[in-house]
Amino acid sequence: MYKYLFGPVPSRRLGMSLGIDLVPHKVCSLNCVYCECGRTTKLTTERKEYIPYDGVTGEIAHYLKHNPSPDYFTFSGSGEPTLNSRIGDVLHFVKANSKVPVAVLTNGTLFYDKNVRAELLEADVVLPSLDAAEELAFRKVNRPWRKLDIPGYIKGLVDFRNEYKGQIWLEVLIIPGLNDTEENLWALKEAFLKIRPDEIQLNTLDRPGTVENIRASTRKELQDIVNLWNLPQVKIIAAAPDRKKIVAYRDDMESAILETIKRRPCTLEDLHKILGLHINEINKYLDVLEDEKKIVSVREKRGLFYKIKS
Ligand code: SF4
Repeated sequence: MYKYLFGPVPSRRLGMSLGIDLVPHKVCSLNCVYCECGRTTKLTTERKEYIPYDGVTGEIAHYLKHNPSPDYFTFSGSGEPTLNSRIGDVLHFVKANSKVPVAVLTNGTLFYDKNVRAELLEADVVLPSLDAAEELAFRKVNRPWRKLDIPGYIKGLVDFRNEYKGQIWLEVLIIPGLNDTEENLWALKEAFLKIRPDEIQLNTLDRPGTVENIRASTRKELQDIVNLWNLPQVKIIAAAPDRKKIVAYRDDMESAILETIKRRPCTLEDLHKILGLHINEINKYLDVLEDEKKIVSVREKRGLFYKIKS
């Protein structure tokens, strides 16, 4: 069992993707209401070597020696990977030791820092998120660290676009009532025209997030936003991954999750502790199981519980 690698996990955007987690659970510059990894426990923009370079590169070297290559190495996890001050070195290690493309999933809030932007230049694809281009919506959906603001956030993304030659797939997640106001949607369009991402991936909640009373957008609501923006790079990607198309989908993993939930309803944290799997990995299976209506989620005092659907 690796400490800093997880998967390969089935990813709808990156195929069979091996995750590299560079920060401890929920160290992030945002505390998004929809975060599937739970509430942010350390809200910060402080960069440091949260996960040791030697530990993570040792695991990557071991993985490459003993396993078939994944479709992607993906810097992601249960926090913001650019907070790790050695991300550029780890990325360089992967590029120097394999031909596997590298993706970085980031909230993009640290791109105001030229060092962060420079450290990502070797990536093949960078997937920043941008859910708001208007301050109120930003505070409602992303609940940022206090000094982050929209002008700095968008400028960082524009600067990165001007410096980076690889693909930028911008992810926008819409929560009805929070960031779907006309004002925010028009401001987002204006930001897209400056950032010039290769793709804009429109998404919504897969499953309840960290707070109550939020819901996913319907397909029609997302389509209305696509029509309003009227930009060629926009794609709706909200859909559970099709398991049959995912090479990495492991039936034994699915059975282990189902068996555990059958014994007693569990939260994501419970499943993580019992099965020893990374939270992101469990999340991917829960997506499929909910989509197939094998499980349901119920909010209770201690959090969101997953139960077998009766
Ligand atoms: S940026 Fe990502 S990890 Fe951080 S709170 Fe938002 S969804 Fe969670």
